[in-house]
Amino acid sequence: MSAKPSERTAFSAIKGTKDILPDEARAWQQAEAIAKNVFELYGYREIRTPIFEATELFERGTGETSDIVIKEMYTFTDKGGRSLTLRPEYTPSVVRAIIEHRLYLRPEPLRFYYIGPMFRYDKPQKGRYRQFHQIDIEVFGESDAAIDAEIVEMADFLLRELRVSDTETLVNSVGCRNCRPGYIQELRKAAQSVFSSLCPDCQRKVTTNPLRIFDCKVETCQELARAFPEILGYLCPECEAHFRSFRAHLDLYGLSYRVDPRLVRGIDYYTKTTFEITTSKLGAQNAILGGGRYDDMMKDFGGPNICGIGFAAGMERLLSVARLDKKPENVVFIIYLGQEAKKVALETARRLRHRGVECLLEFKERGLKSQLGRASKLGAEWSLIIGEEEIKRRKFKLKNMKTGKQEEVDPEEIAGLVLESGF
Ligand code: AMP
Repeated sequence: MSAKPSERTAFSAIKGTKDILPDEARAWQQAEAIAKNVFELYGYREIRTPIFEATELFERGTGETSDIVIKEMYTFTDKGGRSLTLRPEYTPSVVRAIIEHRLYLRPEPLRFYYIGPMFRYDKPQKGRYRQFHQIDIEVFGESDAAIDAEIVEMADFLLRELRVSDTETLVNSVGCRNCRPGYIQELRKAAQSVFSSLCPDCQRKVTTNPLRIFDCKVETCQELARAFPEILGYLCPECEAHFRSFRAHLDLYGLSYRVDPRLVRGIDYYTKTTFEITTSKLGAQNAILGGGRYDDMMKDFGGPNICGIGFAAGMERLLSVARLDKKPENVVFIIYLGQEAKKVALETARRLRHRGVECLLEFKERGLKSQLGRASKLGAEWSLIIGEEEIKRRKFKLKNMKTGKQEEVDPEEIAGLVLESGF
């Protein structure tokens, strides 16, 4: 408390990370509670996995040709000489945990959610951080396109609960291991024909994975990519039927969406469905939520052949556009006058807190006026005044700080009165 605001501090938060201060943390808690409630209504249960994993998990999961693995991972060698990585996304961790704990043997639906920090060495800007937070859901073992639509519907419900407006849903299919290679061949040919105009990064992608050219943020590459062949013309009958059924289910829910054949979403593991929800309320980083199907990851990781689908939403972006009601507070500030009253005040605070009433009081005794001033500065809804007279009569003064109305109350009644007040 002694440091003056003007004093220089030796440390500051690392570039691309930020502190979530108490005022903001309230909104985070609210948004998290809303998300948890929505997910639980759809049968999802929370799963928590470690923040760091073996580097290879992401190399094989997220994919060796993804920007995340090539440029953005926080990878380090621990004291035991292992290469570890702070998770840049959640899906590979969940798949690992499911295989490791054989959760697929359980009868309950394999629907999981998670809320927590992710790490990417990305270029920090508004809406893009190096430590950011995602709300993530994953479903396993459901191949029917009805689930693809159900998770989009759930995402839509979540955004409505958070009162995020002006959204647009983009959908696509990126095919499967049967039909994608044929498309990639055509795409590579098209990319080769404009090779010299592509940025060096995309030139490399022509050989490694031309699909990743669609992720490029360079304007000229995006312009060139608009003339490339579209995957939707190359889908095999199974992928085509799946995409048709996905859209039919979205129509059933009355959800509006736009098919964007270039939506490949930066991660190598997607099969069939990909989707993204954007909002015009954000600047350049307009994607709030994105996901897709990944039917091969579980078996590629040495587990059973169980398909998966999921999405992740960025908390920072969600919170910058969510309209949350200010949570009502119901705080009692206890004012005491004299040493005897202080003891009663401490005991009263303890009793009220244990009965679910938030209480504040100060340990240094001050005059009535000064304590009342403090109560209103702190925005307390109530002040409770305890002096020698009040102790003798066993009646305390409870003041509603908003209306200024004051009444004499029995100490036993306080909790009930405050909790029922509907503040
Ligand atoms: P992704 O895991 O790349 O599919 O991203 C899913 C969502 O996470 C995006 O729609 C964003 O809302 C959020 N997100 C991704 N990267 C960042 C970042 N660097 N900073 C903040 N939010 C991010």
